[in-house]
Amino acid sequence: MHPPAEAAHLANRPWRVLPPRGERLHWIPILSVVLAALLTMASIVAVHINLSHMRESFAWVQHTDEVLLQIAIMDRDLGEAESAARGYLLTGDGNIRTDFIQLRDAVRRRHRGISALVSDNPQQQARLDQIEPLLARRLGQLDQVIALGPGQFAAALSIVQNDRLERLAAQIRDRFAEFRQAEVNLLFERQQRTERGIALSIAFAMFTMVLALTSAAAVVWLFQRSNAAQRERELRSDLIHVSRLNVMGQMASILGHELNQPLTACRNYLQGTLQILRSAQTPQQGVLSNAVAQAVAQLDRGREIIRRLRDFISKGEPTRSPEPVSQLFDDAMALLGMKVEGLVISAQVEEELPAVLADRIQIGQVLINLMRNAVQAMEHSSRRSIHLSARKWAGGVLIGVSDTGHGIAKDISDKLFQPFRTTRTGGMGVGLSICQMLVRANGGRIWAESNPEGGATFYFTLPGSDAAGGDRGQNCEHCGAAP
Ligand code: ADP
Repeated sequence: MHPPAEAAHLANRPWRVLPPRGERLHWIPILSVVLAALLTMASIVAVHINLSHMRESFAWVQHTDEVLLQIAIMDRDLGEAESAARGYLLTGDGNIRTDFIQLRDAVRRRHRGISALVSDNPQQQARLDQIEPLLARRLGQLDQVIALGPGQFAAALSIVQNDRLERLAAQIRDRFAEFRQAEVNLLFERQQRTERGIALSIAFAMFTMVLALTSAAAVVWLFQRSNAAQRERELRSDLIHVSRLNVMGQMASILGHELNQPLTACRNYLQGTLQILRSAQTPQQGVLSNAVAQAVAQLDRGREIIRRLRDFISKGEPTRSPEPVSQLFDDAMALLGMKVEGLVISAQVEEELPAVLADRIQIGQVLINLMRNAVQAMEHSSRRSIHLSARKWAGGVLIGVSDTGHGIAKDISDKLFQPFRTTRTGGMGVGLSICQMLVRANGGRIWAESNPEGGATFYFTLPGSDAAGGDRGQNCEHCGAAP
């Protein structure tokens, strides 16, 4: 494609400024937080379920222990009550009788206590209910033995012997054993149930973990994919920037070539006119010669700008020589060529400032660009003032252009020097990127700051003319840092 045609084609493309990365991917951290919360909640639920299962299991073990202990004590008390009854029958000792009464009451109380303990289990309750009449009859027999006492030994003995036939005590012991066995079986069943519950909750926890990890992996994958897509878009966008700049360079080169011819012709005509004027004896000869000589000088300057621009585009290297900064300032102020109401331009150059090693035309161009931007930024300001300053800076010179304008807009501050970034209607957004390119080509660095009292200051550095080697087009090692 022919360059101008390509330029037109690119210029017609809609230019889209990509939204900042943070805005584009804000949903990814939110998703991660939600997932992390889900993961934590799932783990807490699983741990809670496990804990409650274990607590339940411990409670059942304790409960069974307690029931078995109470049954064992009741069994023991009943046995001791029987012994006390026999002992009293043989000795008639009142103390043994008192012991019997206490043991008998304890057996009754214990029965009621165990009944309360197993109240939630109807089968065990039924077993206890079956024991109750046997226990009542047995205690009744022993009461009778105590009541008859040694005084009616024969009658009391017959009751004792009758029990041997009836096997009441043995029946009670059998029921106790049955009750105990049922309680142990119940504990076994409950523990099996609890173990199943724990296994289920562990499986649930692992399932939710796997689910959460899978979703986290999916989020990471999505994030990386979106990053890659974004990177691709940015690269494509950069490519278009570069090709635009290339096209502009080619256009500038062609334009320079085309303009050079009429400028040269114009200069030749003026030069001829000057010679005629000098030989002619007219009253205004002096004034006219001077005016034409100045027109020739300006044309020479224009041709020089074009020549250097074309050189720079073709070779990419500036023609650097030692230049006093005050001279650069004077040239820029003279060439600004903008008539603005109330505009005050001042300049301050530090004493004994070394000359800079720079391409006079290119740095002049940078200064003029920055001053034009400053004038545009002060369009609505009540005070319009531009201040140029220069001072020593790490082996080179620091030049500042400050204004009293609206200051740097926040949404553009981090991409000021990127091409085609502009906040001005009708602005192209290439001025600052060209300034950056020129300053870098002269071994310096450029940046901008907002002034605390309003307005902005653009700073750039240039190597001093005595900088080591004075090498062309390379970055000065001291010029990299901002103040
Ligand atoms: P353009 O002037 O065409 O917009 P530039 O590259 O020269 O392109 O400037 C880019 C942007 O930088 C401007 O649109 C403006 O927002 C900002 N800018 C440049 N100079 C100044 C300044 N002196 N004060 C405030 N903002 C500025």
